[in-house]
Amino acid sequence: MKCHMMRRIMRITLIFMLAFLFASCGRNEDDRYASTPYEVEPFVAATSVPSPTLSPAPTLTPTPEPVPTFDPTPEPTPEPTPTPSPTPIPTPEPTATPTPGAAASAGIRIPILMYHSSSEDPPNSSLPELYVRPSAFESQMLHLIENGFTFVTFDDWDYLYRIEKPVMVTFDDGYRTNYRDIFPLLKQYDIKITIFLTWENIGPYGITQDMIREMHDSGLVVFEAHTMTHVDLTTVNAARLRHEMAETNRLIEELTGRAPIALAYPGGRFNANVIAMAREHYRFGLRADLGVHNTSLSDFEMRRIRVSRGTGLASFINSVS
Ligand SMILES: [Zn+2]
Repeated sequence: MKCHMMRRIMRITLIFMLAFLFASCGRNEDDRYASTPYEVEPFVAATSVPSPTLSPAPTLTPTPEPVPTFDPTPEPTPEPTPTPSPTPIPTPEPTATPTPGAAASAGIRIPILMYHSSSEDPPNSSLPELYVRPSAFESQMLHLIENGFTFVTFDDWDYLYRIEKPVMVTFDDGYRTNYRDIFPLLKQYDIKITIFLTWENIGPYGITQDMIREMHDSGLVVFEAHTMTHVDLTTVNAARLRHEMAETNRLIEELTGRAPIALAYPGGRFNANVIAMAREHYRFGLRADLGVHNTSLSDFEMRRIRVSRGTGLASFINSVS
């Protein structure tokens, strides 16, 4: 009986011991720090959250903006550059200006005389030197005739090489005295001249349109251009420059039936701009100095010999020789 009781007690204690052992093996070490297995994940997730504090990088991008402030300032300065060549007189124009037929006449020497007005008596003028005595003019022309010169105009230019000792007689501005004193001598000696006409000089006290037509119709006088207003062409803008040339040409052609092909620069003043515009309207441009011309020189810087009241015959002869 006692033996039966002991066995029963041992069996119960064995069951308790097994139960205790089983319960111990089901646990792992982490469980010791967590109240329940499900609390682990939310905790781990929470530890990854602090990372956003490590990403302050985006604060670096906004700063590099201020560059565009440099652009606006450099723009306004480039303006002053287009004012470089105001009145430089480029005399070294290319000498080669071959025109059809004129090529053969390259290198021809031709005196181009420049007169203005005339008066036998001392002129009542601020520029008395412009008034050559008609008797002096006659003597000068006789010298040319007697020495084999041939009077030519620009209409003869293409045939200049055929002419022996060509000479050109020109009058600037357009004075009534050209008609009164000179025209009779032209008819008397069969002399051809060129008048560079300033259109504004036409009027009741100057040369008249009837005088111009009569002289033109005689075949002894060719009218070329000396602008509308005798303005210094180096001082005006392109529009005015064009007007001074184009309008003069139009009016002279309307009056005489012949359009000018040559321009005498008023006051002998010209520059590169003047020449460039003259090339659009003429075949020839004339200055007011430097002596005997040669056709090897530029057709737009043609030289002339000034003849004034004080020019003696000996001086005249020397200037054309
Ligand atoms: Zn003039």
